[in-house]
Parts: sequence; structure tokens; C-alpha cells
Amino acid sequence: MKNIFELDDKVALITGGSRGIGATTAVQLAKYGASIAIVYGGDTNGAKVTADTIVENGGKVKTYQCDVANFEACKKTIECILADWNKVDILVNNAGITRDKLVLQMNEDDWDSVLDINLKGAFNMIRHLYPQFVKNRKGNIINVSSIAGCDGNLGQANYSSSKSGLIGLTKSIAKELGSRGINCNAIAPGFISTQMTDSLSQELKDKAINSIPLKRMGTVEDVASTIVFLASPMAKYITGQVLRIDGGLTL
Ligand code: NAP
Repeated sequence: MKNIFELDDKVALITGGSRGIGATTAVQLAKYGASIAIVYGGDTNGAKVTADTIVENGGKVKTYQCDVANFEACKKTIECILADWNKVDILVNNAGITRDKLVLQMNEDDWDSVLDINLKGAFNMIRHLYPQFVKNRKGNIINVSSIAGCDGNLGQANYSSSKSGLIGLTKSIAKELGSRGINCNAIAPGFISTQMTDSLSQELKDKAINSIPLKRMGTVEDVASTIVFLASPMAKYITGQVLRIDGGLTL
């Protein structure tokens, strides 16, 4: 079968690749030929499971433990990745957390940790890869935002702000680096079945599903396949965009 996504010889770095959307994205990008650098926070076993799946499918992969919120740790990790793989063609800023509360109950740490991981984490990765992207005059950055970043959400002021910030970052990078052959897009998933949404009550999930025109929660495969498309030459004239993957929820 022809590899329609043409990712052979590409190196892809995925943050938050130890489970959920990031893990499936790593496996899918590898399936279409990319070599994979998985960055994860603390779940060494999860990262190993993702890496083993890629190897079992005949792919190439290495894992890197790094707190994406830490500027210096990201610098060192990018140095290791460039030493191991020589380049990064595709960067997927996927690592993210929630600390949902009404603003009245939200403390400084709830705010800072979400902004530091979700938004500053993406800046850290982009910042340390910027010189090599410019030098290679090619690159593809995909930031994992959320419909909460497009529309806001009750009880998610910190999370929504971080995800809105990612959209601003995406559009700015698209303008700043477009002339150097670099594409930068954001995706905005809706309700996707992962560990992040496992904690939501069944009542809330049923309510959400009822409002989704496609009448189901999204799967990690739904999101990963969109990332593969955006990372591929098929999407080479798309930049600075926010693509909603929400089954029509926000129509
Ligand atoms: P998940 O299952 O909770 O996975 C989150 C990933 O982020 C894990 O691999 C985790 O790795 C990593 N991570 C967290 N903090 C980190 C840190 N400081 N440094 C490095 N890695 C870190 O979440 P998910 O549902 O797959 O979500 C992935 C992305 O999609 C997130 O950005 C999320 O906001 C976004 N999103 C999800 C949904 C949804 O419905 N699930 C909807 C919209 C957007 P460790 O455990 O190893 O630290």
C-alpha cells in the first residue's frame, strides 16, 4: 500500500507520549514511517508501553523523561534528542493537565501548574527547537489546544486560558516562521475518552454525548489521525489554523 502520509525519514517529537492522545499519536506517526522521540513527565512504564508498541510494529523510537514546564530541562532534552536523531521535523506539543475548579476555589498553584505545563511547556519546546527549524528551513508544529481554549469553560479558567494561549502561540509562530518553511497549527479536541476525561461523572458524559451531533465521545484515534494529516505533506498549505475535533459539539 502506498504510504499516503509520506513520513519516511521524518523525526517526530511528541510530548505527553506516555498515554492517551500522545501515545496513540506516537504509534500512528511511526506507522506512517516517522522515527519517534517520546517526551513524558513521570510515567516511565506508560512511555515504555508506547515505545514497545512502536518497536513491535517495526518502528524506531526513544523515550526521554522531561518536565516540559522546566525551561532548562527542555533545553537538555532537546540537545539529547538532536544528538540521537540529528533533527526534528515534527513537533507535537501534547503534554497537558487539568486542575478544574471555580475561580473562587482556585489557588495560585492550580493556576501556575496548568499554565506552566500546558502553555509554557509548548513555548519551551518551540524555543529550543527554533534554531534547528530555521536552519533546516522546514518543520511542522502541532499544538494540542482544546475547545475550552476556543470557547472557555465553566470551572476551567486556568485550563481554558492555557489552551487559548496555545492558539495565540500557534498563530504567532505561523506568521513568524512561515517564510522559513515552517507550518504551525493547533487542534481543538472536544470530549475524548482518555484518563483525563475518565474522572468526569457518567451524568456529565451522557449530557455531553447528547449535545454532540455525532452522538459519541471522540477516541484517541480520531485525534491522532488528524495530527498525522497535519504533520504530513498533504497539509503543507495549512498554517496558523485551529482544527476542531469535537463531533460537531461546538456547532
Ligand atoms: P492524559 O491521558 O492525561 O495524558 C497527558 C500526558 O501529558 C501524559 O503523557 C503525561 O505524562 C503528560 N504530561 C503531563 N504533565 C507533564 C509534564 N510536566 N511534562 C511532560 N509530560 C507531561 O491526557 P490526554 O487526554 O491524552 O490529553 C492530551 C492533550 O490533549 C492534553 O494537552 C489535553 O489538554 C488535550 N485535550 C484532551 C481532551 C480530552 O478530552 N481528553 C480534550 C481536549 C484537549 P506523564 O504522566 O508521564 O507525566
